[in-house]
Amino acid sequence: MELLKTCSRCKVEKSINDFSMSSSRKDGRQVYCKQCVSDRNALNREKRLTRAKEYYVANKEEIARKARELYVANRQICLERAKKYRDSNKERVNQNSRNYYLQNKDKFVRYKENNREKIRLRLKSYRENNIKLLLKLEEIYRINNRESIAEKARRYYHANKHKCNKRLNDYRRSNPEKFTHLNAKRRASKLKATPPWLTKEDFTLIEELFMCARLFRLYTGEEYHVDHIVPLQGKNVCGLHVPWNLQVISAKENLIKSNKFDIESKIWNFQP
Ligand SMILES: [Zn+2]
Repeated sequence: MELLKTCSRCKVEKSINDFSMSSSRKDGRQVYCKQCVSDRNALNREKRLTRAKEYYVANKEEIARKARELYVANRQICLERAKKYRDSNKERVNQNSRNYYLQNKDKFVRYKENNREKIRLRLKSYRENNIKLLLKLEEIYRINNRESIAEKARRYYHANKHKCNKRLNDYRRSNPEKFTHLNAKRRASKLKATPPWLTKEDFTLIEELFMCARLFRLYTGEEYHVDHIVPLQGKNVCGLHVPWNLQVISAKENLIKSNKFDIESKIWNFQP
């Protein structure tokens, strides 16, 4: 049989389950039914909020001090709880921080202007500490935004042609091995520069020169190239891909030489 109880507010007889627990009551239940309690709470909500706010304003420092103490004593638990909240309320947290930013934009702009160096250092150390994650994220971004990135780069290049070309040339000079597409271009022109009348012995000689470069690399640990004495793609004169126009030189020498000539036509870093 279901136990019944009459609410002393609305005077309606209801099931005992419609009353919340109360350990101080004889029958273990509150005198007002759940519905009445909820109605009264809704009615008093405004009043309670105002009262809480007044209390907060009057005791601001005390409350902050207590919260700080509590935080310091339970830092790990607080952080975990905050993370859990953030993870399960992503949308809400994002919206809130967006709103906060929009409402306090001036403050953010001012801070940014006054702390440029500090922010730069902080970003730098963050990047260094999270480099793996960031590179992964950047890769994902690049894959997902290939076209817009290319479009942006195109626009930037057209607006800064001179600067871009200079930077590219500098980079090419210091990293010749990275420009394999140029190597391929040179390979093609090498074929054209290889006379049909070369003998089998000539080809063997060429191969031996490349072998020399490989051995030099092996024994010295330094980079050696097979170089065309007269460049294949020179501005005024075009050399031939023949044994007597080839020499083995170190990358250092080649670089010095390259600065005098046109680099693109100079470096042989692959096999014949
Ligand atoms: Zn009631």
